[in-house]
Amino acid sequence: MVEISQADESSIVINLERVRERIELACARAGRDPSEVTLLPVTKTVGAPRLREAIRVGLTNFGENKVQEAREKADLLTDIDVRWSIIGHLQTSKAKYVARFAHEFQALDRLGIAEALQRRLDIENRTLDVFVQINASGEDSKFGIPPEGASALVKALAPYDRLHLKGLMTLAVFSGEEARARECFKIMCRAQDRLRDAIIEGQSVDALSMGMSGDFEWAIAEGATVLRIGQAIFGARSIPDSHYWPES
Ligand SMILES: *Cc1c(COP(=O)(O)O)cnc(C)c1O
Repeated sequence: MVEISQADESSIVINLERVRERIELACARAGRDPSEVTLLPVTKTVGAPRLREAIRVGLTNFGENKVQEAREKADLLTDIDVRWSIIGHLQTSKAKYVARFAHEFQALDRLGIAEALQRRLDIENRTLDVFVQINASGEDSKFGIPPEGASALVKALAPYDRLHLKGLMTLAVFSGEEARARECFKIMCRAQDRLRDAIIEGQSVDALSMGMSGDFEWAIAEGATVLRIGQAIFGARSIPDSHYWPES
């Protein structure tokens, strides 16, 4: 069901074109304007030389699950302006690295990490765009705060002025079943609606980061504004996903 693409370098262009076509088609089917949907290429396991290739064909934002892996690549690409988004679970002890070089953090799931990021961003004199990660599938294997807890977390973020809340992020259930994935995405829209009253000026929950290689068309149908897509652009990964998130 996941459309896995070729891994050789010249294929990035072809794969990207195909992904963009699929995004446009899904938007047309949903009656949405493709300009509402942003592609975040996910580059975990993709090495710096291929990232340079991706940059040459016009990509400038990269999503990385692990901060250590992102740092290593950022250090190899300091000559280029890259916007790094950390999209995976973060240990509090690693907040300092995110504060140093990342532009966005999509896996905010507890107040402790917000506190640590704020403290470190103060030191670096930087700000960070953040998304609150919601566990929309209810699976133990997924990180994120339960939808019912999102409002309290968002309200508690108000004092952390170096964190710029942009929206919500989730990983849907990986069953390959359209109905189950779409139910997760629907939960996100409902959470988003409830949160509109919890935010203060300067905060936003307009962005919905949901949809990956295997389910992004369904996510578009349910209102996604950020798609995190790796394999459909860069080819299949040889490192199992259990390295990046707990096994179900
Ligand atoms: C790897 C990853 C993705 C992208 O998954 P693909 O199957 O490569 O499209 C999206 N979100 C997160 C959090 C990831 O770690």
